[in-house]
Amino acid sequence: MKIRNITLALLPLIFSSFTYASALSEPTSYSKDLYTENILSGNYDSNIDKPDTFLDFGYGERVASPSQITNAILSWSNQSNKLKVVEYARSHENRPLYAVYISSEENINRLDDIKKDVIKLSDAREINDSRANKLIDKLPAIAWLAYSIHGNETSGADAALGLIYHLIASTDKEVINMLSDMVVIVDPMMNPDGRDRFAKSLEQYRGVAPSYDDQSLIHTGDWPYGRTNHYYFDLNRDWIYLTQPETQGRVALINQWRPQILVDAHEMGPQDTFMTGPAREPINKNMSENIIKWGNIFAQDQGSEFDKRDWRFYTGEWHEDLYPGYSFYVNFRGTLGILYEQSRMAEDGVKRPEGTIQSYKESVHHQFVSSLTNLKTLQNNSNEMYQDYWDGRKLNISNGSKWANQSFVILPTKNKKRINTLANKLKAQNIEIYTNNKLIKVKNILKQSGDVKDEFIIPINSMIIPNRQPEAPLISAILEFDAEIDNEVLKKERQATLKNGSSIMYDTTAFNFTMMYGLDAITVPEFLNEDLEEWLPSPMTINVNDEAIMWAVEGDDDSSVSFAARLMEQDVVVRIVDKDFLLSSKSLSRGSVIVLQMDNPNVKNLTSLVSNTATNLNISVFSLDSGFGEKELPDWGGRHFRLLNKPKIAVLGHNGFSSYDVGVSWWSLDHHLGIRHSLLNTSIIGYADLRRYNTIIMPSGYRSLSQGETSALKDWIEQGGTLIAHNGSTRRLLSQDSFTSVKEITKSFDLSHQYNVDLQREFLALDTIVDETKVNNNKVDFELNYPWEKSDTKIDIDTLKKRDKWQSLFMPSGAFVSGRIDSSHWLTFGTIDTIPLLYSNYPVLMSDSRSNAVIRIGELSVNDKVDSYRTLNWSDIPSGNDLNVRMSGLVWPEASKRIANSAYLTQERYGKGQIILFSGEPNFRGSSLGTNRLWLNAVVYGSGLGTTLNLSL
Ligand SMILES: [Zn+2]
Repeated sequence: MKIRNITLALLPLIFSSFTYASALSEPTSYSKDLYTENILSGNYDSNIDKPDTFLDFGYGERVASPSQITNAILSWSNQSNKLKVVEYARSHENRPLYAVYISSEENINRLDDIKKDVIKLSDAREINDSRANKLIDKLPAIAWLAYSIHGNETSGADAALGLIYHLIASTDKEVINMLSDMVVIVDPMMNPDGRDRFAKSLEQYRGVAPSYDDQSLIHTGDWPYGRTNHYYFDLNRDWIYLTQPETQGRVALINQWRPQILVDAHEMGPQDTFMTGPAREPINKNMSENIIKWGNIFAQDQGSEFDKRDWRFYTGEWHEDLYPGYSFYVNFRGTLGILYEQSRMAEDGVKRPEGTIQSYKESVHHQFVSSLTNLKTLQNNSNEMYQDYWDGRKLNISNGSKWANQSFVILPTKNKKRINTLANKLKAQNIEIYTNNKLIKVKNILKQSGDVKDEFIIPINSMIIPNRQPEAPLISAILEFDAEIDNEVLKKERQATLKNGSSIMYDTTAFNFTMMYGLDAITVPEFLNEDLEEWLPSPMTINVNDEAIMWAVEGDDDSSVSFAARLMEQDVVVRIVDKDFLLSSKSLSRGSVIVLQMDNPNVKNLTSLVSNTATNLNISVFSLDSGFGEKELPDWGGRHFRLLNKPKIAVLGHNGFSSYDVGVSWWSLDHHLGIRHSLLNTSIIGYADLRRYNTIIMPSGYRSLSQGETSALKDWIEQGGTLIAHNGSTRRLLSQDSFTSVKEITKSFDLSHQYNVDLQREFLALDTIVDETKVNNNKVDFELNYPWEKSDTKIDIDTLKKRDKWQSLFMPSGAFVSGRIDSSHWLTFGTIDTIPLLYSNYPVLMSDSRSNAVIRIGELSVNDKVDSYRTLNWSDIPSGNDLNVRMSGLVWPEASKRIANSAYLTQERYGKGQIILFSGEPNFRGSSLGTNRLWLNAVVYGSGLGTTLNLSL
């Protein structure tokens, strides 16, 4: 009886599996019925396939997938001669990125000539006014329309699909005229990998009835979300640092075309409306007034089009333009950047507080109408805009601009990899770079620390970038040490901070290349143009001699870390020399990587491995025949030739972690090293076999570890593991007992005296003076000095606590502060003495003598007028010194005081292993190459240099 019942109950289920459609109920309504207006409402050539042809839904009703968009574009390129498709890049996941040129057939056939004319108009050193005017008369307007750089901001790319069709298929005179007047370059889908990830999640979370709830998964997607690309990079922060293939290809093409406008169509919060138009302050001061003027004109036209249709919109508000790494880097090159921010409807539409539901199709329509309106405004004003552009180009090379008498100089470095990377980024922006083979005497130079030096001699082989050249505004925007921020902006920012801890700054307030890259540079207040030659990368030497006893690469070069990592992966035994040395008359820096013939008796093709690895990495390698270092210099059998250990790396991630920091850690391994590693879902570490790894990276996160996870990690470290944590994860580890002796400042006040004593030991060790008569005096000295007894004020614990709470309100949100390095620690190989640290609201680390404070915040600078110790919160500054903290960007004095002398990077033994804590995120945007080197040292050298090596028998 029972059995029979079950069988009967299963019957309908079995049956329903054959009639799929009836398995689910019909919804009572469809989101496609929400919006009945037709986006494509003109007269169209029937020989061109409509967008619907390539979709399995009506155009604009849902999100087109990257492959659907690709199919449409490729098919149209066969159907129309008003269109030319160029693949400008491939994403990491091998999806094509297209620039779709649309114009009259005649213009399409002479695209190369048009481009040549644009390039001519860009260099006012080469042509005069009358030639320029002729070019302007002849040139069609040029627009670059780019969509959906954030993969989950989908409506833009759908609008692009309709726009391409509309422009090539319309038989309306207005459109045909437009195409004879202009070249429209549509960049329909700037981040196909992110879009694909999001489109997939739309499929996965789709139910029967539409979801108008913007909190539901179909609207949000899940970790790591669709915004970013394959390695979770925000592509809209990458336009100057150019780390990703999508941006590299795109910028190369935009910079050839120098369009008059560049539309960058995004989406924002679902309960918002539509934002466009020029930014509010802070606006980067290198942007010309003309750009701002034209921005207003375009916004007005766009606004009145929205008014006509009863669509709400706004301009300004949260949109600021200080950071030059958005798409609006083009503003500094004379192109007007136009931002769209459409509220995000994620396919189904969203219920709004006023009770209406806004549909996805309407959001696509907004983007479509905005683009067409901008094209019309451009068509009407192209000549005048070209004229302004030309005036700008003339100003840039004249001696009358504010940039004319300024040059940036990057001091010589042995770090070939990094200086070459910088040169490539600058050349990608058409910036001209030079070098000097004579010393140049200059005056009143500005150092990165902010100090001015009356007289300075520029060493030979510096990299010199005179700011008087065609791309002057951009050069200044990306190389000046400090971006100017108006007092009014500072006032508003401080008000916002004081009132509710908010900020009016949308991105980092510091971004200049030399600090980002950890390269020592100066600004010279004059136009350097004599005795200069074109800067060229220095040639590579591959000298791998069979007879040598060892081969070496320079440790100051970042590629040396990759060299070591890649050889170890191939089971070559590698050493590192932890002190500057001179062997076989070759002098190399500490951190240089050495391969000894005798360490590798069983590696058959050792010399070719060494030489191929170096060749691939473009790093010079030298053969050394003698292991004898004169006097105190290291010899090859001594303790300075330290053995490395092959890193076996895992990167933790997933829910609870910053996808940016996870992604950039992952990317850094793949980009810089290219060696094997595992990405782990952190939820498995409680029961995973962690013995497979000797190095675990914990990117920034806000996830606390469970007790089981904590003890698994602790056991693993005790047995010799290297744990490397960043920012939020560092904070979590500090809050979990007995992981580390390092503390957050808020938990340290009762021990502040001890922290100060340990700090004074470090200071005194930096600048040690020994009085021989006292040392050799046999009598007890009754007048011994104690540094902490000489400071003027002592601050009690309660006051310290109160002050810290107050100061913590003012923490920076992306500014450079100076880091003073422990130059004897292996983590600082390849690092300049004062390293700029990109700093935000990070945990303020307190390190005593139980851990190594490898980098502390603040650079001591001489001030003879100060003849006593001075107290700063918990610490004292030795007499004769000031402490420089801020280097660039907005750092309130309260924050400088709070973080002064705290640690940015600590290393501490734990059992046979170690814990390495970064207060910040060392790999920020794949661009903070200065701190990235510290991280690479930790990842590749950590297991060998900071743990007890496992001698397997
Ligand atoms: Zn966006």
